[in-house]
Amino acid sequence: MGVFDLLAKYDYGELHLCRDPASGLQAIVAIHDSRLGPALGGCRFIHYDSEEEAIVDALRLARGMTFKAAITGLPLGGGKSVIIRPRSEFDRSALFRAFGKFVGDLGGHYITAEDSGTSIEDMEVIRSVTPHVTGVKPERGGSGDPSPFTALGVRRGIEACVKFVLGRDSIEGLEVAVQGIGHVGYHLCKELNALGARLTVADVDPLKAARAEREFGAQVVALDGIFSTECDVLAPCALGSALNDTTISQLRCKIVAGAANNQLAEPRHGDDLMQRGILYAPDYAINAGGLINVATEIEGYDAEKSRAQVMRIYDTILEIADRAAKAMKPTYLIADTMAQERLARAVLRSSVPPS
Ligand code: NAD
Repeated sequence: MGVFDLLAKYDYGELHLCRDPASGLQAIVAIHDSRLGPALGGCRFIHYDSEEEAIVDALRLARGMTFKAAITGLPLGGGKSVIIRPRSEFDRSALFRAFGKFVGDLGGHYITAEDSGTSIEDMEVIRSVTPHVTGVKPERGGSGDPSPFTALGVRRGIEACVKFVLGRDSIEGLEVAVQGIGHVGYHLCKELNALGARLTVADVDPLKAARAEREFGAQVVALDGIFSTECDVLAPCALGSALNDTTISQLRCKIVAGAANNQLAEPRHGDDLMQRGILYAPDYAINAGGLINVATEIEGYDAEKSRAQVMRIYDTILEIADRAAKAMKPTYLIADTMAQERLARAVLRSSVPPS
């Protein structure tokens, strides 16, 4: 597919490409929408089999960021960048310095952050070239690890779902099954355990599952056993596409609410969940805590301010559930509608001439 056809398919926008022969950098910055503010989104540094694959990844991810920022009420657009990981040897600092210059040349229209394959150290290198980067070290005014904030937001989203489905203000005594006890999954287990929930966990890494068993009294089950676990809430916190034709038919939960991105293998799986009477908390709405946290960094990091805003994910998820029930539509569609409404309101505000 041609580049402009791809831009049309993903409803774009801008696409910036950079090749720096000295460092070997081949990078893409995709800016999906900047009507709400500068486009913020992480920088992915992985191998790609083709240029098209890298471009599509950037386009798809940046589009998701537009919706995430909009539904969360952040004054940010949606962007994402990709650095194609070289197959041969490379100088990592030189590569990220060149990438920093690329980001700097965009003049703040795009703000970068950590993503798969990049680290806080890479963000520091970028910071030496441009201020348009978040996720630097806390001692340099950065917001540090976003995972505890993402987990806090997911916990608030779970509480909203519990309120909506079970009419309860507390999650004490409820059964929660967590798939993936990585950065977010671990902190989520910690939050839920502190509030008296009973946990069942699964992770491909047995040490991570064992840690949850040791620290939070979680019951460990096999990888595919997590989907058929009888529970109130299933929290997918591993990779994407956890909700698919195979897993959905096994579910024995009332709520699906977790941190993973792209949980629905296909949109129709969101319809399937609704038909089965399972409330699904749309991924980009419930997992926005990390984005809220890095966004706070732009105006001077304040952990308390960040935490207060993450707590409000409760209201967003409750509104989605309520509107979905009234409209008899799946929650993922209602979340898209709410994000689009916020974008449209912003456009309207900016088009009203000053009186
Ligand atoms: P992570 O890599 O630290 O954790 C993922 C965990 O899932 C790992 O422990 C891994 O062993 C486990 N895992 C992988 N495949 C599995 C499987 N089939 N069954 C069970 N466990 C499996 O990643 P993370 O930072 O905790 O992020 C988790 C998810 O949340 C990802 O989808 C990520 O995109 C999303 N997310 C993370 C953040 C954040 O702040 N880190 C923010 C928003 C969204």
